[in-house]
Amino acid sequence: MIWNTIESASREEIEAIQLKRLQETARRVYALNPFYKEKFEERGITPEDIRSLEDLQRLPFTRKQDLRDHYPFGLFCVPMREVVRIHSSSGTTGKPTVVGYNAHDMEVWNEVMARVYTMSGVGAEDVVHNAYGYGLFTGGLGFHYGAEKVGATVVPASGGFTDRQLMLMRDFGATVLACTPSFALHLAEVAAKAGSEFRKDYKLKVGIFGAEPTSEGLKKEVAKAWGIEYREVYGLSEIIGPGVSCSCSHSDRLHIFEDHFLPEIIDPETGEVLPDGERGELVITTLTKQALPIIRYRTGDITSLVKEPCGCGRAMVRMESIVGRADDMLIVNGVNVYPSQVEHVIANTEGVTLNYQIIAEKKGHLDKLEIMVEVSEEIMSDNVGELERIRKALQESLLNNLYINALVKLVEPNTIERSMGKAVRVVDKRR
Ligand SMILES: [Zn+2]
Repeated sequence: MIWNTIESASREEIEAIQLKRLQETARRVYALNPFYKEKFEERGITPEDIRSLEDLQRLPFTRKQDLRDHYPFGLFCVPMREVVRIHSSSGTTGKPTVVGYNAHDMEVWNEVMARVYTMSGVGAEDVVHNAYGYGLFTGGLGFHYGAEKVGATVVPASGGFTDRQLMLMRDFGATVLACTPSFALHLAEVAAKAGSEFRKDYKLKVGIFGAEPTSEGLKKEVAKAWGIEYREVYGLSEIIGPGVSCSCSHSDRLHIFEDHFLPEIIDPETGEVLPDGERGELVITTLTKQALPIIRYRTGDITSLVKEPCGCGRAMVRMESIVGRADDMLIVNGVNVYPSQVEHVIANTEGVTLNYQIIAEKKGHLDKLEIMVEVSEEIMSDNVGELERIRKALQESLLNNLYINALVKLVEPNTIERSMGKAVRVVDKRR
C-alpha cells in the first residue's frame, strides 16, 4: 500500500516538483529572513539564479550552530502569531536548538508520517503503542498524529514504566510498536521473564524504530526478540522530526520523501557534492516548510543515496541506514573510515566483543591504523593458535570489506580504557 501516488511518480515528475518548490523556498527565505538574505548576498546570488536543481549547489549551507546563534526564533520565516507548535532539543551542551511549525507545516509532517505508517503496513485496523517520548522531543507527537491520520488507534504511552507499558500492549492488543530500538529490546527482555512463550500474549506484527544510531546486529535482535518486522524511520527536528524517510517491505534502505525534503550527499571535508552511490554527509533542503524552511542543512549523518526504483513500487530515492557521524570520520591515507563500519565488521567476527579502540598514528608520511579488540570471556587466552586465527580473520575482513589496512591486536576482556562505562572508540594521535 502506498499513501500518496507521488511516492511512485517518475523521476522527471519528482524533479519538476522539486525545482518549483526549491525556487519558492529560496524566495521565501531571501525575502523573509535577514540571515539567509545576507548569506545569499555573500555568494552574490538571488533566488532568481536558481534555474535548475544543480543550482542548489550555489546556495549556502546551514549548520546546527546557525540555529543556536539565532536562538530561539531567529531563523523563523513567519510571524509568531502564525506558529502553532514549538519543539526543542534537550540542549545538554549549550543552547538548545528550537524549531517551529505553522498549520501548513503540521499538515506536511502528518502527511509524511502517514506515508511511514502506510509503508509499514499500518492502517485503521491497527493499534499503535507509541512509546516515543512525548514532550519537547519530536518523536512522541510526530508518531502520534501520523497514526491518527491513517486512522489507527494510538496509545500515547510515552517512555518509561516498562511493566505498565507491557500490560497496556497486551490488554489493548497493540499490533504496532513505535519506540527506540534499545527500548524495544528492553521491553522484550522484561516480557520474556513471563516465559519463553511470552509472544503469544501479544499481537505485535511490526515495529517502527528510530531516533538512535542502530547497528545491523541490534536490528536483527529486536526483530527476533519480538518476532516482528523491523521498519526504520529517520528524521531530525531541524528538518521536521521523524518522517524524513522510512524503510519499506522490499529494501533495508529508507525512502526519502523527496517532494518535501531535497537530499544531497557531500564530502564532509570539502563540501563538494558527491555522485549517487557514494558515501558522504547527508544535506537536506526543506521544500515545503514555511515557519522554519532550511537551506542545505548539514545533518552530520553519513549515508549514500540510490535512485533506482524499488520493488515496493515507490520511486523515491533511498538512503542507506546511517553508517556514522561526519564528526567521527577518520581519514586514513586518503580513505574515509567510520568507526561504525569498523564496528559492523567486528560484530560479524566470532570470538571478539564490541569493546574496541581505533588508534591512528603517523609513521613517516603515512597514517597507520591499529585496532585493539577485547576477546570474549570464553576464549582461552593461552590458546595462541586460536587467537592468531581470530586476529587474522578480523584483519582480513577489515581489508576486504572496508579496504583498510589495519593492524589488529587482541587484548584481554576489560583492558581497553573506558569513559562513562564505554570503551573509548577512537584515539587519533595525529592531531
Ligand atoms: Zn521500497
